[in-house]
Amino acid sequence: MSPIPPIWVIGSANMDLVFRCSRFPNPGETLLGTDFSEHPGGKGANQAVAIGKLGNPVSFVGCVGKDGFGVTLIRQMKGSGVETSTMAIHDSLPSGTAMILVDEAGQNQIVVVPGANGAVTKELVNASIQSSTDSFIVAQLEIPLEAVIAGSKLGKMILNPAPARELPDEIFSELFAIIPNESETEFLTGIRPVDADSCKAASAWFLENGVQNVVLTLGERGSYWSNGIESLSIPAFRVGAIDTTAAGDAFVGGLASRLSIGEGWQDALQFASAVAALAVTKPGAQESMPTRSEVEAFLASQ
Ligand code: ADP
Repeated sequence: MSPIPPIWVIGSANMDLVFRCSRFPNPGETLLGTDFSEHPGGKGANQAVAIGKLGNPVSFVGCVGKDGFGVTLIRQMKGSGVETSTMAIHDSLPSGTAMILVDEAGQNQIVVVPGANGAVTKELVNASIQSSTDSFIVAQLEIPLEAVIAGSKLGKMILNPAPARELPDEIFSELFAIIPNESETEFLTGIRPVDADSCKAASAWFLENGVQNVVLTLGERGSYWSNGIESLSIPAFRVGAIDTTAAGDAFVGGLASRLSIGEGWQDALQFASAVAALAVTKPGAQESMPTRSEVEAFLASQ
């Protein structure tokens, strides 16, 4: 059997600090909280961990600070099978951090400091990724755009355009696939994908701009793929969702995992939906990503 080709993930790694409190503090007020927990996150690291847990060789191109969070973020990725020798450790910037306040009603207030994620440069990407048009390169938008653009020229890029932001026209023709969710699709195309016609119209916008494959993720409504000639609608699996954090990251990781071994779109999308469905049945982001045997057992039980 030929070896499984490696996947590159270019992206962010963040430590999410979750503070629980009865209500949000007022300006100048010190409030006693009720609980605290820290969770490795960042869309890039989440997607790399999803791919690593599925058993594909995966290298993460990212940057953390020279601090305790950086050590934990790298350790968590390594423990999930992610190659981290392609990561940089910044001398002066702190690791990316998010402070998340959650009140009794479940509402949240979030402050994100990108820190070292802002130092994922095109130079780092070019130095880390061996140019090969066969490799899949997965990216999101929590790092500087120049790094994403550099990566798009080194292989078959799968771009998850999250969080949504303006993209230069020339990037679209470099993309093997784009995977936006509903709000990112609306932000980029002006069309909200709510039914078959609007999914087709939004996909057509990306295809006309030069993207080869469009995958719209539609939360509980599943996903839609088109390459301009064929299209597929894949329903989501019905599961008892308890935390949909990182559903999109699980889906992107699952899809890259299967496309990289040469699987066709129908099966790869089905597999990605199963990875995401399992992820939403557990709390957290990286902690909730399933292993390949868990996904295979789930698919066999359907
Ligand atoms: P994001 O997390 O980026 O907003 P979505 O909410 O569109 O992305 O979810 C990505 C994929 O995860 C969906 O296409 C679907 O396959 C799966 N998914 C999301 N929510 C659920 C759910 N409640 N039950 C089952 N699968 C889900």
